[in-house]
Amino acid sequence: MDYKEHIAIVEDWPKKGIKFKDITPLMDNGKAFKSAVDEIVEYSKDKEIDIIVGPEARGFIVGCPVSYALEIGFAPVRKEGKLPRETIKVDYGLEYGKDVLTLHKDAIKPGQRVLIVDDLLATGGTIEATINLVEQLGGVVAGCAFLVELTYLDGRDKLDGYDVLTLMQY
Ligand code: IMP
Repeated sequence: MDYKEHIAIVEDWPKKGIKFKDITPLMDNGKAFKSAVDEIVEYSKDKEIDIIVGPEARGFIVGCPVSYALEIGFAPVRKEGKLPRETIKVDYGLEYGKDVLTLHKDAIKPGQRVLIVDDLLATGGTIEATINLVEQLGGVVAGCAFLVELTYLDGRDKLDGYDVLTLMQY
């Protein structure tokens, strides 16, 4: 399926010079969204995944239907101050600033196989921080899946040695 026809490119948002890839038209199209989720589910099937981890907020949108289809759990990665129980944290740099990401301390058990899902791979800062959180808890990152990859930002360089799926590249 040509998913790109369902991505809206928004010039100069959220800052001048950024061409934001808006995935909401893809979410709005039931067939295209299901097909994209199904591709991630297929990719996961031989990986013996125990749990999906997704960063807020669009990682929830893509990751939760994958967890539902695989009948496994989903653990949210959130900005500092959003998760109610004891967390671990990591500092990270993203395409437009700096922040802290957190994960509940009991979200993953040592040795569990994790699939990380997000909407988009840009500089790789978010995924690198999410991998850091999973590995702090002893999780094994068995794969990373995204709808969109911005190849010109070289996020893959941060994912050397990890298994990566992206459904569209710009
Ligand atoms: P990275 O950390 O630079 O790889 O940026 C990826 C994160 O920022 C993901 O969680 C995305 O949701 C968000 N992001 C960055 N650029 C875009 C974009 O063009 N469209 C949608 N999300 C984006």
